[in-house]
Amino acid sequence: MAAVVILAGLVLGAAVARAAGADLGWIGIGSRAPGGASSAGPSSVASGGVPGPASTRAAGLASADRSAVAAAPATPLPTAVGIDLAARSTSDPASLWVVVNKRHPLVPLEYAPTGLVWLAGGMVRGEVVPDLRSMIAAAQTDGVPLSLRNAYRSYRDQLVIHADVVKGAGAGYADRYSARPGYSEHQTGLALDLHSASQPACDLAPCFAQTVEAVWAAAHAWEFGFVVRYTPENATVTGYGPEAWHLRYVGRDLAGWMHVNRVTSLEEAFGVAGGAEYAAG
Ligand SMILES: [Zn+2]
Repeated sequence: MAAVVILAGLVLGAAVARAAGADLGWIGIGSRAPGGASSAGPSSVASGGVPGPASTRAAGLASADRSAVAAAPATPLPTAVGIDLAARSTSDPASLWVVVNKRHPLVPLEYAPTGLVWLAGGMVRGEVVPDLRSMIAAAQTDGVPLSLRNAYRSYRDQLVIHADVVKGAGAGYADRYSARPGYSEHQTGLALDLHSASQPACDLAPCFAQTVEAVWAAAHAWEFGFVVRYTPENATVTGYGPEAWHLRYVGRDLAGWMHVNRVTSLEEAFGVAGGAEYAAG
């Protein structure tokens, strides 16, 4: 089963790479120009100095051709070409790959992680810390001061927040923008909301998507094991409106695999149901 999934991923990756070709930004890991172009478009690939036409590079990587990897300068690539998508549980709340959405609450509902650490404005699980530190340092190098608006929230925190949103804006709005207690990724200690130092008024607001913090995170967060969990493209799958500030840590292997294969949601990566309707009961 796992082998089939990996094979499917490889085929999909190859097809996508051939079709698009332009987005080879993941090659650019560690090749960020001094002083830092913060965009991850073709220009940053060019600055990485990867030789050969785009189609050759894409095909080489998609087939895990070591010669293509050897030709790339700087840091080794993530092991994004083939991963075992069954390697971790998607239902164990302690798993880095747990999928939490409106169909899949945390079990138990009042789950609380252990080993939380305060870092850059929020509490996260210890496993997140090294990559979060690296991401903040890389952003800093690019002139983008990343920090957290918040991260871990307990069941009880979420209960209060959700009740407040229901009271202020109604149950329909609350269910679209605020998870019910027991249904929030923030309760895992693996999710965080970025703060915008450049435009603080845009924290937790749609205009966050245009901030330098959001633009940087959209281009680079995956390099450090984070995914932008709620995007305009995956709103119907995740059941939430876009949140350019909300990052979820899944580790570099899965984040790299999703980036290369252009899979934008955990639901699609694992074939887990999502959507806007809460599970009955
Ligand atoms: Zn969030």
